[in-house]
Amino acid sequence: MLKCTEVVQRADALVDGTPLSFAERLALRSHLMLCRHCRRYVRQLKALTEHLREHTLVEPLDDETVNAILAHRDNAN
Ligand SMILES: [Zn+2]
Repeated sequence: MLKCTEVVQRADALVDGTPLSFAERLALRSHLMLCRHCRRYVRQLKALTEHLREHTLVEPLDDETVNAILAHRDNAN
């Protein structure tokens, strides 16, 4: 049986879809079935992760886009 701290350490992987071994997944699942504290933690972490994913800004501009913008600006001057 995993300890709560071990579940918390692996919770990221559980939430963000990182592949876990069958044994790890089973150990996490059985702990979560028995421990409502960890269930709540994982649920909240999941909600937070989804919230951040939805509200995170678009990715930084790539070099090509930056160069195009700079070229456009230089032409305008
Ligand atoms: Zn626990």
